[in-house]
Amino acid sequence: MSDRISKMADMLRAGATMLSITCPQCNTPLFKYKGEIYCANCDKVVKIVKGDEAAQAEEAQRAPIDLSGLEDTILEKVRNLSVVMQQEKDLDNLEHIIKNLILLVDLLERVKRVSKI
Ligand SMILES: [Zn+2]
Repeated sequence: MSDRISKMADMLRAGATMLSITCPQCNTPLFKYKGEIYCANCDKVVKIVKGDEAAQAEEAQRAPIDLSGLEDTILEKVRNLSVVMQQEKDLDNLEHIIKNLILLVDLLERVKRVSKI
């Protein structure tokens, strides 16, 4: 036990960070060190399997996000604005409409980018 604690202290001194997940074999808090997850007690690199916090977080990042509803909303706004734009004669108002259109198109591109991940 004291050996385990001194190993963990060594890890921290070496610049490792303690994780909130524990080793599946010995339940000792795991460390992240130089991009790898390491168990000071087992004295080895631990591969985190599905179901663990880190794997779940990774999966959440990779999961496709359904933003089709948002895309439709943006397209609807663009359509409405283009109708307003056709009828608008005031240059200041036109400028305002164009700025909003640019923002909407930019937002649409961002949404599409995120949805594709
Ligand atoms: Zn372990």
